[in-house]
Amino acid sequence: MLTVTNISFSYKKLLVLDNISFQVNKGEHLSVIGQSGSGKSTLLKLLYGVHDLNQGDIIWNNQAIKGPKHNLITGPEFMKYVSQEFDLMPFITIQESIGMYLSNFFVTKKNQRIEELLKIVDLQNYAHTKIKDLSGGQKQRVALAKAIALEPEIILLDEPFSHIDNFKKNSLRRNFFRHLKKKEITCVVATHDKNDVLGFADKVLVLQDAQIMRQGTPQNLFQFPKHPLIASFFGEYNIIKPHGVVYANQLNILATSNLKAIVINSYFKGGYWLIEADYDSNKIYLEHSKTIEKGQLICFEILPVKRF
Ligand code: ADP
Ligand code: MG
Repeated sequence: MLTVTNISFSYKKLLVLDNISFQVNKGEHLSVIGQSGSGKSTLLKLLYGVHDLNQGDIIWNNQAIKGPKHNLITGPEFMKYVSQEFDLMPFITIQESIGMYLSNFFVTKKNQRIEELLKIVDLQNYAHTKIKDLSGGQKQRVALAKAIALEPEIILLDEPFSHIDNFKKNSLRRNFFRHLKKKEITCVVATHDKNDVLGFADKVLVLQDAQIMRQGTPQNLFQFPKHPLIASFFGEYNIIKPHGVVYANQLNILATSNLKAIVINSYFKGGYWLIEADYDSNKIYLEHSKTIEKGQLICFEILPVKRF
């Protein structure tokens, strides 16, 4: 179990994390979400021992994770960290990069493992390509494969699919997270993409103003966003008095109602149209099955959040 107790950290005068505590159980998947600059990457670096804490403790099972003042080599061996920059050596091949930590003692076994890892990240046909000749997304996939080569007990992933194109992203995400669950590898994922969270995370931690603004399951955060920041993470939302935060898909257009708005624009979103409208001199957003002409008066009702 990872236990983080009352940690604080600042870069010189900038306080980035202020007295933060949380726990992650073995095999659990924790998502850390928050706006850009909210300290997600810094938190992962602290968990890996890249910086010294101002105060507090980070403990994995019974072992304290300490910063560079206390360690010659950064990063405990039971942990792997894939940074946003996924630092790889440019002049070696994918196969060499992924196999770097694997023992040369059993060559057949090593090659089998490399094959298996290449399959997880869908790079089977690139084993002999040099890292320098890869796209950003391919490099990110190599970094992910390399991080799980030796099956760490815990893995820290910083925006792990951010460079991967949409054609590959969903299947890669499923393959990779499924693998971590199967092997009971604990993971902490910093992300601003709801698709990294929904369907995968057991718990979510929301960072804002150097603090944990909220912790909960994805279901709990989605159903009761309370704060606009959390609603905005999941989708288009409105603030409608006296209801508070209301998702665009909770507003239902109907023939008559006391709630009336004038359509400003319609945006095609694939499975629905997002209707932008003026309600009481405020912009609101509704999901609808059809486009609606600009200037048209619409009536709407507010439905409860869709339940799971
Ligand atoms: P996030 O990953 O959520 O975008 P970061 O952890 O990268 O946030 O950054 C948190 C804050 O710390 C930001 O204000 C950022 O500018 C600052 N910061 C990040 N790294 C450094 C650094 N090495 N030195 C000084 N300030 C930094
Ligand atoms: Mg970051």
